[in-house]
Amino acid sequence: MQDLATALAQRQADQLYRRRRTVDGPQGVELTLDGQTVLSFCSNDYLGLASDPRLVATLKDGAERFGVGSGAAHLISGHSRAHHELEEALADFTGRPRALLFSTGYMANLGILQALLGRHDHVFEDRYNHASLLDAAKLSGAKLHRYGHADADSLADQLAGTGQGERLVATDGVFSMDGDAAPLVELARHCRQQDAWLLVDDAHGIGVLGEQGRGSLDAAGLGIKDVPILMGTLGKALGTAGAFVAGSEELIETLIQQARTYVYTTATPPALAWATLESLRIVRAEEWRREKLRALVARFRAGADELGLQLLDSRTPIQPLLVGDAATAVRLSEELLARGILVTAIRPPTVPAGTARLRITFSALHEERQVDRLLEVLEEIIPGP
Ligand SMILES: *Cc1c(COP(=O)(O)O)cnc(C)c1O
Repeated sequence: MQDLATALAQRQADQLYRRRRTVDGPQGVELTLDGQTVLSFCSNDYLGLASDPRLVATLKDGAERFGVGSGAAHLISGHSRAHHELEEALADFTGRPRALLFSTGYMANLGILQALLGRHDHVFEDRYNHASLLDAAKLSGAKLHRYGHADADSLADQLAGTGQGERLVATDGVFSMDGDAAPLVELARHCRQQDAWLLVDDAHGIGVLGEQGRGSLDAAGLGIKDVPILMGTLGKALGTAGAFVAGSEELIETLIQQARTYVYTTATPPALAWATLESLRIVRAEEWRREKLRALVARFRAGADELGLQLLDSRTPIQPLLVGDAATAVRLSEELLARGILVTAIRPPTVPAGTARLRITFSALHEERQVDRLLEVLEEIIPGP
């Protein structure tokens, strides 16, 4: 048997050891973390809905109506009216014939690729895709081809070079650790020309980008013909939990029949779907949340530019500050925390070696003075250019 203690000690020596911190009380821009009050810039609760009183009330109401547990998988007796209504609302939101709920985004990605591909097929993925899409490719048994980050030409070459079998291209809509957008228009063009499926994982675009928060596809002007498979998550901008796939009638029916992560798992609590319906209504109606986010991001980028900080080219609420090695990222994150600011260090293997970073994210509930405070502390702890 392998020596786990030695491996853990090595991980610690490499500054790659990860620890959890415990949050007391609700999610928000101010958190009580291991007893300390901190100003947080690291959640994916971009619209500030995770603790919205209207969602709390709807979740309670949902529990009164539907109880807590769903009792079974969707195909047995766990598919509640609340799940069904949420699926219809998500189909309407995304402008697609059908939507299907999954327990998590991770499970949705695994299910899609496993249901559509087999070992004689090919899957093409951006180098920076989320881990769940890479794991999904492995589970599907298809041959995995990785193309350069956001490099549609490199994808086109790879597509042209493969012959037999189904081909599916999978990309994040907004890259989770970089905040930049995939070149969706070009990717869609190549996929149409080559008759390949295109799957966009819009975990970080849904709610944040596009008209009414419809996401990256809406922002890029792309529809179901361009991108037949859209995956969105509910635990980020929507502030609840779970995920969905939206697409054609045939796609959704195929997933219901064949996606093992759909078939062989207990449906999530119906009350959660009930609360997500309310969240979706708020996301669509409250444009001010997206406007506020854009204003906060612009304020931060302008301030960071003045300080000569090295930001990536991102227009989303994900604003990573590149620092290079893992040890520096960890040290800066600790120095921020000592000054009451929570920003997590993102290290390999989540990002490529040498590109460790502070992943700064914004929420519509941040205030301008809190962004200014973050800039002040960054100026203090990072030596000028
Ligand atoms: C968070 C995330 C997922 C996983 O979604 P969960 O609902 O948290 O399991 C999938 N893809 C991307 C790009 C993500 O950022």
